[in-house]
Amino acid sequence: MLNHVPHLSVRPVRAFTDNYIWLISAPRAPDQLVAVDPGDAAPVIAELQRSGAGLAGILLTHHHLDHIGGVADLVRRWDVPVIGPEDPRIAHCTRRMHDGEHCELPELGLSFEILAVPGHTLSHIAFWGHGALFCGDTLFSAGCGRMFEGTPVQMDASLTKLRNLPPDTRMYCGHEYTAANLRFALTVDPANSAALEHQAKVADIRAAGNPSLPSTMGLERRINPFLRCDNLAVVKAAELHAGKSLEETADVFGVLRAWKDQFR
Ligand SMILES: [Zn+2]
Repeated sequence: MLNHVPHLSVRPVRAFTDNYIWLISAPRAPDQLVAVDPGDAAPVIAELQRSGAGLAGILLTHHHLDHIGGVADLVRRWDVPVIGPEDPRIAHCTRRMHDGEHCELPELGLSFEILAVPGHTLSHIAFWGHGALFCGDTLFSAGCGRMFEGTPVQMDASLTKLRNLPPDTRMYCGHEYTAANLRFALTVDPANSAALEHQAKVADIRAAGNPSLPSTMGLERRINPFLRCDNLAVVKAAELHAGKSLEETADVFGVLRAWKDQFR
């Protein structure tokens, strides 16, 4: 039922060069914030002090330091639940979550379904609820994370799971990579009018110094080549790049991911 609390209020905190730490206002306690992937404590503490809000919880998508590095400092100041995946590489976790489980914070009015999304890392999870998706480094706007630990079959399945979420789902990912991702997306799929249109919009948004996020799953389905591995133009481009025919969508995904790794 909590899942139907609409319109989460979410604000970004910038960290490092291009990370976003998302701060969710608790629907039942608007002066309480939940931090998603606080890689650095300092900008979170600064925002809490600026806004006069308290920290009420921490959600973690995966073990990379730029997503968890601030947790130790934050839990020293605030004794709050720290919710993340089952992974010994993540310290300070008070609740370990698995695929299909529900992460409930009833006193805050928050409830998320946990989606296991292996690929970028093997234990990576995403939090989905209230029409919002917090997906760390699995999915980016117009792109996806590097495949550090998983296989193309695993990561393609993870992205397909996210692609099937409702189109109005607002997607909050961990990095501001949209403009560079769109350059690659349009190299793969140059006639994609939605991607062209979005590229112009993102250029304006970024020139004004604003985040290109959140995106929506509906938009991502149209512009993100990694969610379009069954699209004829994308398949053809991947086959041309690989110099062979590709039977499965995971094969198309694998070629696109390796192509993007080399793309400048
Ligand atoms: Zn990462």
